[in-house]
Amino acid sequence: MCGVTGCFLSEGGNAAYYNYVMLHANQHRGQESAGICVYDGLRLVGKKGMGLVTEVFSREDLDELTGPVGIGHVRYSTTGASELVNAQPFKVGYAKGELAIAHNGDIVNSEVLRRELEASGHAFVSDTDSEVIARLLAVELTETDDVFEAFERVMDVLIGSYCLTVLTSSGDLIAVRDPWGFRPLWIGWDDRGYFVSSESVGLDVVGVGGNRREIKRGEVVWIREGEMESKTLRRERKAVCMFEFVYFARPDSVIEGRCVYGCRKRMGYRLAEESPVDCDVVVPIPDSGRTAALGYAERLGVPMEEGLIKNRYVGRTFIMPEQQERVESIRVKLNPIRDVVEGNSVVVVDDSIVRGNTSRQIVEMLRSAGASEIHFRVASPPIISPCYYGIDMATYEELIAHEHDSDVEAIRKDIGADSLWYLSLDGLVKAIGMKKSELCIGCLTDRYPTPRPEDFEGSSEVEPIEQ
Ligand code: SF4
Repeated sequence: MCGVTGCFLSEGGNAAYYNYVMLHANQHRGQESAGICVYDGLRLVGKKGMGLVTEVFSREDLDELTGPVGIGHVRYSTTGASELVNAQPFKVGYAKGELAIAHNGDIVNSEVLRRELEASGHAFVSDTDSEVIARLLAVELTETDDVFEAFERVMDVLIGSYCLTVLTSSGDLIAVRDPWGFRPLWIGWDDRGYFVSSESVGLDVVGVGGNRREIKRGEVVWIREGEMESKTLRRERKAVCMFEFVYFARPDSVIEGRCVYGCRKRMGYRLAEESPVDCDVVVPIPDSGRTAALGYAERLGVPMEEGLIKNRYVGRTFIMPEQQERVESIRVKLNPIRDVVEGNSVVVVDDSIVRGNTSRQIVEMLRSAGASEIHFRVASPPIISPCYYGIDMATYEELIAHEHDSDVEAIRKDIGADSLWYLSLDGLVKAIGMKKSELCIGCLTDRYPTPRPEDFEGSSEVEPIEQ
């Protein structure tokens, strides 16, 4: 996962500052690195670094990044290692100038495309699929000045998820959402100019009011000389990631016209209807299980208590890339309140169970804090297969539901709870309020809206991409 932003100030000003504020609102989408690139009137200049937005940028940095147009990025790695060379925005030079790109998503056929580009002489400096997109776009923009024409050809070959903000050395800002619409992307405008953000909360924090909308799947928005033009270039079957609603997006975000908070609360209602428990207290796993727990408790008429306190200075464990870091960080992240759980039958509500490490340790913690019974309720169905579109669930082996062949009783024993229930797929779809056919539910069903990376393996037909 990553977050992208963009800003075009019609009357001039410091686009870096607005990108900084919007990136901060998207910080939950990636905490490994952050970067901003601006057009200073002549060329593209930027800064990127490892860490949080507030760690990478000082007031002086933002003052130095002067320019009215800019893009930003926060990253956590799915493709490519967690290193500065893979941080974004990613800048490439080409015959007519430079372009910088910020990418949220994963390209499933990136290896084939990379080999084709390498065969035609491109020397890659990072191992990200974002560089593949940047180089493909540079090839096309060498041929034409028409951004729509260039993207039409780029979108013809890219398979997978990509929300992009692009900055050109003529000071144009471009925003793109892939033809499936996996990830969210918003645009808003007012008398200051145009603002682009992965999540709607980015527009909230810079004070963009009513003039805002989600960029449509397959749409390219091109902003130049203060004017916005847009075209929908390609459409595939709609496949909005269900996990954005379940876990990833902020609850105060809006995706596909739906408030994420409302969706999560409905997941809690449905969970309570599907699997009620005669219990004393409902305890959420902070922070992402909180809204569903509220719905669960409300529907059952049982009090919800903060029985687990999160150390807010520890990052979201799920985002850390190495298994080792993940395991060790859970204990420093959460601590139970004995007064809430001791002697009580407790229902613990989490948004999902991916690897099972967190769930197992939470059950242990609550037991040692004196809970008499621990009932685990999960606001999404079992995750049985990997994500190829930018969520850090890369292999079957790491998924606890896969390990136990989706046997809920075996998973219950593994995590040590007294009972375990996952929200049904039907319940999840109804809570989100979209058609099942419009959602990506690939990791719940092992059936995906695009071919998988392995479907391209062994492809021996590596044609150089013409330059
Ligand atoms: S596979 Fe799962 S996590 Fe990945 S995009 Fe689809 S629903 Fe989202």
